[in-house]
Amino acid sequence: MEKELRAAEMAVREAMTLCRAVQDGIDRLVLEKNDRSPVTIADFGSQALVCRSLSRSLPDDPVVGEEDASALRQPEQAEFLDRIKDELAARGVDADPESICNWIDRGAADPGDRFWTLDPIDGTKGFLRGDQYVVALALIVDGIVEVAVLGCPGLGSVEVAAEGGLVFSAIRGAGSRVAPAADPDDSRPVIVSDCTDITRARLCESVELAHSSHDRSRTIAGMLNLQSESVHMDSQAKYATVADAGAEIYLKLPVDAVYQEKIWDHAAGLLVVSESGGTVTDTFGQPLDFSFGRTLCGNTGVVVTNGLLHEQVLAAVMASEPTTRDSNDGP
Ligand code: AMP
Ligand code: MG
Repeated sequence: MEKELRAAEMAVREAMTLCRAVQDGIDRLVLEKNDRSPVTIADFGSQALVCRSLSRSLPDDPVVGEEDASALRQPEQAEFLDRIKDELAARGVDADPESICNWIDRGAADPGDRFWTLDPIDGTKGFLRGDQYVVALALIVDGIVEVAVLGCPGLGSVEVAAEGGLVFSAIRGAGSRVAPAADPDDSRPVIVSDCTDITRARLCESVELAHSSHDRSRTIAGMLNLQSESVHMDSQAKYATVADAGAEIYLKLPVDAVYQEKIWDHAAGLLVVSESGGTVTDTFGQPLDFSFGRTLCGNTGVVVTNGLLHEQVLAAVMASEPTTRDSNDGP
């Protein structure tokens, strides 16, 4: 899987530079108007670059991405497509609108025996706020995640984050590594925290109340007598943080009975954590099952730990009251 990993790293690094450039260009005015177009330009641009890159290095591999180009192909979107074209051109990729749409739609495949799954920008709310987001890419073969790359433009020391953040990568059975985006050769192994004292464990969870039940995690933190405040962070940067010993626990606790987790929100994170020595299950202790298609419809929520604390955390999760609100109860 070395060839696959190299191809995925190259694709993700290229997409990260586009995302960073767009995020840096978001001004306060755009944010105040709650204009989502910057994230959309970066979503489509990132998916186009990753799919273009993979189509060259691994032409036979399909990609199951979050986006498709059907809306972009409408005549009234021509101006918007031009903005994506400009962002690609700024990265040295000159292409006509049709080619851009075709690259994006290369990511609209259906899941089969072997495919890549891509979240071109995971953590869109964080991206808009100027906070954490990731470019997540993973290879799934027969329902098993074999290769993962998590491009985290906002992670690392202040200096590393300013120069492009961190890229985490993993091959199943071969461990995980992390390198600065700006210096791919300067990589090191990733190892989870060795903390065995649950009261000292650090918990991370979504910023967004709509994505994970903060009430339930507060209850669980109380049951476990966690001493530190939980860290709120967008995207699979939470998986990277547990993998790299920046936290011991990440909980994603369902807020309604209808939402099904998407494979591209978890595949890369799962492999990076498990190859770093951590454990990932759902809230009932079941392994995440990537064999159902685009969603993790066989699972409920996600529990990620450094492994050593998993049993204790899972026991508290299972003893806590699930959120029963259904999706019709409003936001
Ligand atoms: P986070 O960055 O942890 O807030 O999680 C972001 C992910 O939550 C996004 O990629 C969405 O796919 C996902 N998401 C969207 N709506 C929901 C929901 N109702 N429940 C759980 N997750 C959601
Ligand atoms: Mg996502």
